[in-house]
Amino acid sequence: MGFETVIGLEVHAQMKTRTKIFCSCSTEFGAPPNTHTCPVCLGMPGMLPVLNKKVVAYAILLGLATNCTITRESRFARKNYFYPDLPKGYQISQYELPITEHGSIEIDLNGNKKIIGITRIHMEEDAGKLIHDPDRPVSKVDYNRTGVPLLEIVSEPDMRSAEEAGAYLRKLHAIVRYLGICDGNMEEGSFRCDANVSIRPEGQEAFGIRTELKNLNSFKHVEKAILYEIERQKDIILDGGKVVQETRLWNPDKNRSTAMRSKEEANDYRYFPDPDLLPIVIDDEWIENTRATLPELPDEKRDRFVSEYELPEYDASVLTTSREMADYFEACVKEVSNAKLVSNWMMSSLLGLLNAEGKTIETSPISSTDLAQLLQLIEKGTISGKIAKTVFEEMAQTGKAPGKIVEEKGLVQITDSSQIESIIEEILSSNTQQVEDYRGGKTGIIGFFVGQVMRATKGKANPQIVNEILKQKLEG
Ligand code: ADP
Ligand code: MG
Ligand code: ZN
Repeated sequence: MGFETVIGLEVHAQMKTRTKIFCSCSTEFGAPPNTHTCPVCLGMPGMLPVLNKKVVAYAILLGLATNCTITRESRFARKNYFYPDLPKGYQISQYELPITEHGSIEIDLNGNKKIIGITRIHMEEDAGKLIHDPDRPVSKVDYNRTGVPLLEIVSEPDMRSAEEAGAYLRKLHAIVRYLGICDGNMEEGSFRCDANVSIRPEGQEAFGIRTELKNLNSFKHVEKAILYEIERQKDIILDGGKVVQETRLWNPDKNRSTAMRSKEEANDYRYFPDPDLLPIVIDDEWIENTRATLPELPDEKRDRFVSEYELPEYDASVLTTSREMADYFEACVKEVSNAKLVSNWMMSSLLGLLNAEGKTIETSPISSTDLAQLLQLIEKGTISGKIAKTVFEEMAQTGKAPGKIVEEKGLVQITDSSQIESIIEEILSSNTQQVEDYRGGKTGIIGFFVGQVMRATKGKANPQIVNEILKQKLEG
């Protein structure tokens, strides 16, 4: 029996504000425990929350960037539950009136575009962090994170595979980073995802029972956890069993998930409007002023790269995954006339290097200025593309400028035809058998001669000139 997978994602994005959502404590990550706290975020009786306007501004920005409708009058609600990470006994969130809803994000899988619906985006405060002692039955709590502003982005159950979920998550990640509202650091938890997964027999319209996967702190983990979950659910159903609605925890070390709590144990949050906070009223002017500040977003940039630089759409998508990457590309293109040459070098050599060294474009050992200079040397014919690869490696290791490496190592390309010609003549005269073979019809053997010339010149002979002269001599 064939099954179809159904996935909906809930993402928590931590807003890049200086202060928390309802008090003026710092949001900075990594401070000593409980140093970024005050009576408001510690939930002391009688303390009143004051809304950080920037969080509202960021929510409107994200709403507009994801084609959502902005709610003119939205409201905060109390989500009640008891847990030590939540000193007030309730989390301030939004419930029946979220700040923005009914949007969409476009994803692209190998050229196939698909629209994924956004159900809602709402504002809420983060909870504290529990630290369990591995040796003793003791838990500690750090309230620095309590009250840090979050946007929760809930998708429609529109995704049909782990790859689609990955593509959606990467696109959303790119958008929040382009907007500059979230740093997107998944390891530090500023961009977290819960995946809801179910399967249904092909052709069936009704959704199957879903499970919710938590603790997915990298794109890879999200995709792996979903793939594992699909197989787990298939096994259950094919064995005649029923999937139970539950929350499962992904264990990246063991490559599997385990049940955390079932839906029957789920809390009744007893939501009600928070009487301490006024409704959030947003007028047209605020929306339009915010719209005017929207930066060029990933899809727009990708389309512009295709039209302006005549890049294949695939290249343009890769180069616009982050604003920094796109900026790097555009800085190079200013200096190098062949945009496709820049794209090729960035996508293969540069990204390969960054991957191998676990770096990002921001921490790239090769600056855009240096890469542009290297590519200029190719364009001017000073070095061949092949030599450029060795120069690139040297640049990565030493941080030296390409011009300097070429000079120091004497890598300048030989373009002097008469010099190349005399080398070729020598090679032809000491390989008479191969020359005869060529003239007898084995023209493929030309590669052998090219190889000999390159060996004799340590790869520095201009390949085009070598080929031209070789053909002339062999055929003439
Ligand atoms: P909850 O409040 O319990 O988390 P929601 O109705 O808010 O439930 O849904 C949470 C997420 O689950 C949404 O992203 C939604 O698209 C997704 N979802 C709902 N039903 C299914 C299903 N049957 N299979 C997969 N995902 C689902
Ligand atoms: Mg949920
Ligand atoms: Zn505080």
